[in-house]
Amino acid sequence: MIESFKHLEAMAGTRDLAGVFLESDAEEHAVPAELIVEALRKRRAVMRDCVERGRTSEGASMGRLVGGEALLLQRAFEEGRTFLDPLTIKAELYALAVMGENSRMGVIVAAPTAGAGGVVPGMLLALEEERQIDPERTVRALVVAGGVGSIIALSANISGAAGGCQNEVGVACAMGAAGVAYMMGGTTRQSIHAAAIALKNTLGLVCDPVGGLVEVPCVKRNALFAVHGLTAAQLAMAGVESVIPMDEIVEAMVRIGRSLPRGLRETAEGGLATTDTGTAIALRLKDEANARRAERAAERERMAQERKSGATS
Ligand code: SF4
Repeated sequence: MIESFKHLEAMAGTRDLAGVFLESDAEEHAVPAELIVEALRKRRAVMRDCVERGRTSEGASMGRLVGGEALLLQRAFEEGRTFLDPLTIKAELYALAVMGENSRMGVIVAAPTAGAGGVVPGMLLALEEERQIDPERTVRALVVAGGVGSIIALSANISGAAGGCQNEVGVACAMGAAGVAYMMGGTTRQSIHAAAIALKNTLGLVCDPVGGLVEVPCVKRNALFAVHGLTAAQLAMAGVESVIPMDEIVEAMVRIGRSLPRGLRETAEGGLATTDTGTAIALRLKDEANARRAERAAERERMAQERKSGATS
C-alpha cells in the first residue's frame, strides 16, 4: 500500500506515475491494471458527455439558485467577449458545465465528491483539448488523480461535513493539479508538488452551502478552483516547490478541519448560508418544501376518499 506521498516519491523513482498506482492496486486489491484503465476510460467518457450536456443547458438547478452559467461563458467565448486565455476559459467552462449537471441531478463523476466534481474534468479535459493531448494520456492522468486522492483519504475524511470545503474542492484541486503535471510530462516529484501547492492554498476553505444545497457557492467555486489547480501545476512544472511537504499539508488540513466550527462544515448554519440573502433563500426553500408536502398529503387524502367512496358504492 502507498502510505504517504513521501513513500510514493521514493517508490516511484523515475517510473511512470500512473503505472506505479496501477501496479500498487493490482498487488493490493488484485485488480488487473487493464480493468482499472478501462473503468477510467468510461469515467472520462462520462465526464466528456457531462460537459457537452452542461455547456448548452439553460436549465435551472433544483433550488433554482443557479443555472445556465456555463452557457453564458460559452457564448462570451464564442463571441470573443472573454479576455483570459482559452485554456483558462475552458477549464472554467467545463467545471461550470459539470456542476450545472450536478445541480440538475444529472449524471456526473464524483471526483472526489459530487460537490467538487467539476474541478478535475475542468482541468484535465480543457488541457487535453487545448494542448491536443491523447485522450489515453488523460485516462492515465485520472489514475494519477485518483491515486493522489486515495493517499489523502488515508488520513482525511473527504467531505465538507468533516473538514469544510478544503476537504472537497481543495482535495479535487490537488488531484487535478497532480494529473495536469503528469499530462504535461512532469516527474512524480512535480506532480506531488503541484498537488501540495494546490492543496495548501485552499486550507481553511469553509463549507457553507446556501439552503444546504450544492449550488451556492459550489458551482462557481468549482470553476475558480479548476484555474487554481492549473496554476499550481504550472508553478510545479516550472520547478517551484512547496516548502511544506504534501504529507504535512494533509495533516494540517485535518487539524484545520477539526477546529472549524460546526456551522462551517456543511450544516448551512454559518458563512454565506446565514447572510441576509442566504437566510431569505433558505426560508423560501423551506416554504416551498412545506407547500409540496401539503400538496402530497392532500393528494393522498383525495385518493383515500375516492377509494372509500368506491368501496361503499
Ligand atoms: S461548499 Fe460544501 S457543499 Fe459546496 S462544494 Fe464545498 S464542500 Fe461541497
